[in-house]
This record gives sequence, structure tokens and C-alpha cells, in this order.
Amino acid sequence: MTKFSDLALDPRVLQAVTEAGYETPTPIQAEAIPHALQGRDVLGIAQTGTGKTASFTLPMITLLGQGRARARMPRSLVLAPTRELAAQVAENFDIYAKHTKLTKALLIGGVAFGEQDKLIDRGVDVLIATPGRLLDHFERGKLLLTGVQIMVVDEADRMLDMGFIPDIERIFQLTPFTRQTMFYSATMAPEIERITNTFLNNPARIEVARQATASLTITQSLIEVKPVRKDRSFADKRAVLRALIKAEGEACTNAIIFCNRKMDVDVVAKSLKSHGFNAAPIHGDLDQSVRTKTLDGFRDGSLHLLVASDVAARGLDIPAVSHVFNFDVPSHPEDYVHRIGRTGRAGRLGKAYTISVPSDEKYLKAIESLIKSEIPRGALPEGYVPDSGEGRPDRADRPREDRGAKSRERGKGRDRPVKPHDEVASMEPVVAAPVAEVREEPAREERREERRDERSTERRNEGRGERRDRGESRERREERPAERATERPNDRTNDRSNERSGDRREQRDDRRDYRRDRDLGPAVIGMGEHVPDFILRSFAIKPSKTDDADEAATGTEG
Ligand code: AMP
Repeated sequence: MTKFSDLALDPRVLQAVTEAGYETPTPIQAEAIPHALQGRDVLGIAQTGTGKTASFTLPMITLLGQGRARARMPRSLVLAPTRELAAQVAENFDIYAKHTKLTKALLIGGVAFGEQDKLIDRGVDVLIATPGRLLDHFERGKLLLTGVQIMVVDEADRMLDMGFIPDIERIFQLTPFTRQTMFYSATMAPEIERITNTFLNNPARIEVARQATASLTITQSLIEVKPVRKDRSFADKRAVLRALIKAEGEACTNAIIFCNRKMDVDVVAKSLKSHGFNAAPIHGDLDQSVRTKTLDGFRDGSLHLLVASDVAARGLDIPAVSHVFNFDVPSHPEDYVHRIGRTGRAGRLGKAYTISVPSDEKYLKAIESLIKSEIPRGALPEGYVPDSGEGRPDRADRPREDRGAKSRERGKGRDRPVKPHDEVASMEPVVAAPVAEVREEPAREERREERRDERSTERRNEGRGERRDRGESRERREERPAERATERPNDRTNDRSNERSGDRREQRDDRRDYRRDRDLGPAVIGMGEHVPDFILRSFAIKPSKTDDADEAATGTEG
């Protein structure tokens, strides 16, 4: 078996690896590191959890050991699709490079440009960035990519999902042709294949077996809920979730609760909190500082339950999770393996509960065919009282705005998830994270920079085909990875599309209620293409004698 000491790594890197407690290289490390150290391009087909970050960071630090950073010209570049992933790579870099003098900068959105500019000006060896923020720095003329000797693209398949491929191509073109490229993707979609054929030079292709089976240390259980009324399934599932967590008692040291939709992430977290659980949400619509604090709280144990969307949690390295609860059955079977793989890591025992309703049947079938086994059916937890189907769900379970607005009291009493428009309509923060309740108000300069940042990104996006239809900026997409998870193309065609059109209807109702409650009158609808002639007609007013007299009296000119 290969040992780290066989890999010709810099002794300072080896020391850091030993201190990190790693005994042997993972398969991707054993295979990729020798090629990378020879300066060869690497194409790694591997998922998170395989040790892929160290497979590019360790040789990178070794290769950059010699040489010095120059102002505004980073010597290497790592691109990651989300802020969290970029931050995670930066943390890894700090661990492995701690005995060297190499410098790094992390360029991610949601952080003021000023500090990042200062670091770049000083010169950095390693630049770790999300594509949007990197291009923004470049376009501000603050950064030159012509000194990049090593470029890493991490999680390319997610870059593709998030519409970043045109940005990646552009960044490739801004770096020297002679650079060494290390490119990682969990899957090889045709578009990814095309990019690698274009920008990689005879790469060493290393494939680490795709994880299609769940670890044997994870006890899986499927809890089938049969709501009396379909429109009460959301409340019923929340009641089951609470009962499951309570039934697990102290064995549940911490847990991740996965929801398919980010709006449900908010509602479930809020509902748990109102029932006295220590829970907080994480998804892409939350402010970066909130996300970071929530994750830190979960890592240090001060937060017990993390309610997450797939994308927000994906790729995040959170060790030692005792339980995973799938509040929803994932509509993509690989997500199931991914989610439950958050527990039972490194030989530890873990439990994964999945709550299902009858309409999940086809998703369950897909999961069971992927994992090639049936998820054992578990009993409904003690303490769970099925919803009778009469009346409304209890007050604490309802979203706040649903509780307050009189207009809705008159409505049908639906138990519906919070939507982004609710946040606008209620003018109250929907999210209340215990660890991260204080939303840091960015400094004025920072806000101005963020606005400029958004504007410049949006300008660049104009005219581009991919995902531009929504006029959404790249920076914004980086901020909202969770939304992407719920908007994959095949989702649109599944049964849940009906649910979405219902959502849109509710959003319209919410807006109407909001205006009515505040006597704002009907919303003004734009004129569209039609502009009446008289508005476009130019006209000049001939000054009257009285006007002349007024001007003379006040002393105004021209
Ligand atoms: P990654 O796939 O890069 O996200 O890594 C997943 C986890 O594996 C991280 O927590 C790393 O610290 C850990 N790890 C990476 N390489 C090794 C190794 N050789 N031995 C043990 N753990 C490792």
C-alpha cells in the first residue's frame, strides 16, 4: 500500500499531513499526487469525501515551494462553485501549508472587495475563488492571471449545474497556455468532457468508484406517513420528525435534516425551534455571515440540528454526525446516498431516517434500485399523533405571517411553506437562527461595493444565453445554490410541478393581501411594449411674462 512518504511530497507538507492524523493516502491521492508532481494535467473523477482536496492541495504546495509571489499575479488558482466550498479549500490549504511561508487569498462574494484587494496587491501564491468574484476582480483591473502556473477546477459538474461553464472557459483563456491543470468532477457530462478536451493537455485520468452503496455502519429506516388529507402532509411530516428526534433521545448527538426545497428548510427549522429544539437553517438565500456562523455552530456542537438543502450541505466537510433525517425523499437517487453518507463516517455508527408520503413512491423505487436494496421500513415513532385532518395545524407550526395576517385567517387555512415573497410581504425576517441571529449589517462602503459588484456582474451577463433568462447575476447564483437544487430540468416535469404552480398562485395572493392590508390599492402593472404617443412627444414651454418676472425676482438664471 502506498504511504505518504512514498509520494515525494515536500517534507513540510508531510509533517502537516502527519499532524492532521492521516495515515495513508486515499486512492485518489495515491494516484493523482505523483502525476501532479511531475507537472502533468490531472482529470479526477471523484466525489467529495474521497480526499480529493488534498490530492490537489498537497502537490500544489510542494510545487509552489520554490519561487515568490508577485503583486497582483497569483501563482496558482483554485476555482470552486460555492463560497462554502471555496472556504473549505482555503481551510485545507491552511492546514497543509502551515509549515511553509506560502500565502493565499480567498475571493468569494458577500465579502468586501477592500480586504481582498489588499491581499492581491501584496501578492499571493494561491488564489482560491468562486468564478463570479474572480472575474469581478479581474474586470476591476486589480488582478492579472498571466502568472498562474497551476489551475484547479473543483466540482466542475456543479459549475455546470450552476451555469458557470462560460465563466470557467473565460478564466481558462485568461491564464497562460503553459499552465498545469487539475480538473475534478463527480460525473463526466458531455459538456464537461468538451471542456476537458479543450483545456487539458493529455491528462492523467483518475476515476474513483462512484459511491452507489451506503456504508454498512449506517442504519437506514423508512418511516411511511399516510396523511389523512394530502394538504396536511407537511404538518404531519413535521410531527413525525419531532417524534423521531425525541425518540432517539441522547443518541442523537447532532443531526442534519434534509429538505428538498429551500423554503421548506426555513419552515422546518422555524417549526423545530418553536417546539424547543436547537435548530437552524442553511440554504443559499441566507446572508454569508449567517451561513458561516450556523456552520461553525454546528461544527463546534453549539447547534444541535442543521436543517439543510442538498446543495447547501453538499461538499461540506462536517465530521461526526450521529443522525440524518430526510424530511423529504430526494427526487434524485444519488442525493439519498449523499445525504445519508453524512453519518456513519470513518467507521462510526450512524442512523438515517427517511420520512415518506404515498406520492414519494417513484422516488423511493429509484433510490432502492440505485442502492440495490430495500430501505428497511420502520415503525412510526412513539409520541407521534397522526393529524386528524380537521382544523388548522397548531399555531406554532404555522409560518409567522400566516399566523398574523387577518386576511389569511379568512382563507382556507392551508399549511403552506414560506416563500421568498413572504419575506417581502411580512417585512419580518423569516429566518431566526439561534447561533446566527445577529445579521451583520455591512458597512456603507461594503454595501456600495456589493451593489457595484452586482451591477458589473449583471452587465457582463447581458446577452449571454445560459440561465440569463432570469436576469440573475452570477454572484447571486453563487449565493443561492440551494435554489438550483430545486430547479433541475427534470424536476420541472415531475409531479411536483403542480405544487409549484400552486406556490406561484399563493405568492400572488400574498402580494395582493399585502397591498390590501396596507391600503396600497391595486399593484401598478407596467405598460409593456405599448407606450402612448403623447408620452414620447417632446414639447417646450414658452416662458410667460410672469415666469420672467419671477426669475428676475429670485435671481435664478437659465
Ligand atoms: P475531501 O474529499 O477532500 O472533501 O475530504 C474529505 C475528508 O477526508 C476531509 O475531512 C479530509 O480531512 C479527510 N482526508 C483527506 N485525506 C485523508 C487521508 N489520507 N486520511 C484520512 N482522512 C483524509
